[in-house]
Amino acid sequence: MVLNELGRRINAAFSELSRVPVVDDAAVDGLLKSVCAALLESDVNVKLVQGLRNNVRGTVKEQLNEGGDKATRLTEGQRRNIVQKAIFDHLVQLIDPGVETFKPKKGKANVIMFVGLQGSGKTTSCTKLALYYQKRGFKTGLVCADTFRAGAFDQLKQNAAKANLPFYGSHTETDPVAIAGAGVASFKQAKFDVIIVDTSGRHKQEGELFREMVEIGEAVTPDQTIMVLDASIGQAAEGQSRAFKEAADYGGIFVTKLDGHAKGGGAISAVAATKTPILFIGLGEHMTDIEVFRPQPFISKMLGMGDISGLMDKVQEVQMANPERQQEMLKKIEQGGIFSIRDWREQLSNIMSMGPLSKLAGMIPGLGQMMSGGGNDEEAGRKMKKMIFITDSMTREELDSDGSLFFAPVSRKKKEKKPDEAGGKQVASTSTAAPSSKEKDAKGKKEKVPVRMTARARRVAKGSGTSVREVEEFLMQYRMISKMVKSMGGKAGWMKRMQGAK
Ligand code: GDP
Repeated sequence: MVLNELGRRINAAFSELSRVPVVDDAAVDGLLKSVCAALLESDVNVKLVQGLRNNVRGTVKEQLNEGGDKATRLTEGQRRNIVQKAIFDHLVQLIDPGVETFKPKKGKANVIMFVGLQGSGKTTSCTKLALYYQKRGFKTGLVCADTFRAGAFDQLKQNAAKANLPFYGSHTETDPVAIAGAGVASFKQAKFDVIIVDTSGRHKQEGELFREMVEIGEAVTPDQTIMVLDASIGQAAEGQSRAFKEAADYGGIFVTKLDGHAKGGGAISAVAATKTPILFIGLGEHMTDIEVFRPQPFISKMLGMGDISGLMDKVQEVQMANPERQQEMLKKIEQGGIFSIRDWREQLSNIMSMGPLSKLAGMIPGLGQMMSGGGNDEEAGRKMKKMIFITDSMTREELDSDGSLFFAPVSRKKKEKKPDEAGGKQVASTSTAAPSSKEKDAKGKKEKVPVRMTARARRVAKGSGTSVREVEEFLMQYRMISKMVKSMGGKAGWMKRMQGAK
């Protein structure tokens, strides 16, 4: 997506920081200048950017300079981490309205009404959302209450047919309120769980459009009204969402076309500033180009650090299609104790069956970043296949492990010679990022112990036709994912996510 460019620029600024010898106020200011310039180019409001700059400065100053003796013991690496984390956290704050979002409940009719201007992507998004819920086991139907635009009925009908979704609409009825009411009533009678109502996005007069929205709202009493907003309007999103809010009190927003516009960051931050939750984002014209919006994973993905919760969401789709397999996997994780490399391999195969791979790759920590300019499906597919080949060359013991047997601490006294790749080239065989049981915390009390890849990794690289570097990268990704799975609440949290709707 276009926000990749923003992520790339922020990452470039982070890399710049890693090259300065001393992380002092001047270095922090330099980094903030680059990050803020990138945000402004994404059309983020000047005041919000200024706020971020001041808040990060405040947080960082406090942590770097006001800790007395303890602060003086911080290494440059730790100081760098403090600065980067502060920026990450404040980017999340920038797009987090801090409001609970709507989740439909099974066993009752959840009516969702869509509003928004014509051309914003409303009809497309209605179908995307209907398909999203259908794939998660909700009996879902679509109602077309847009009688103003010729062709709206056919468009939604065609979309619904393509996605195999039940549909209600009329070529002859001209009263949108009557159609909406009748459509919702008929789906309710047929015990549908989710009923999505598409409304008109244009009228001769704006006042009429808003009046119609209110009347449809009264007829169908929606559990959730979603306003659709085109990301290309950037920070003008704030004014547009306020105008709609006054007319039809919606509860959440669907931001579309985030794949295609550099102003996406502006739109998202502008909406967050109005304290209205963004529920979903549209990332393309296909029916599956929809993602749940969660501020922290969104920033994480933008910076190439992956989006494990988004990944789990996608995996869930595959498992809904095969509930027996889902139960089997849940049981395995429940009994297994650890999220093993084998578990990750299985998820990876699931992910690969979903497509489009370039979009899914961005959710895997580290993988999106490794692909040039966001990458294409072919490149993403190649990278994922390599990951599968790597696991194919592992022994049963290795697959069932947490990967730590691939790493060994490097002796401090006598530093070992770096292992060679098949081609004889030197590889980055030591990594302070690699986890190890001996690794100490980053607070400065203890020191990190570097680790090197063991002979096992060289054997796996040789067997899979990859390099030691690639095996190391695979293991890093796996470790990040298993850590995130744990932080999602361990086995119970994982299972809840697998069984939950959103
Ligand atoms: P409506 O008039 O608001 O109902 O808008 P449509 O659903 O007809 O969409 C208008 C155009 O935007 C169509 O060409 C859609 O394919 C396109 N569109 C909708 N959502 C997205 C999105 O998330 N990304 C991209 N690139 N195009 C989108």
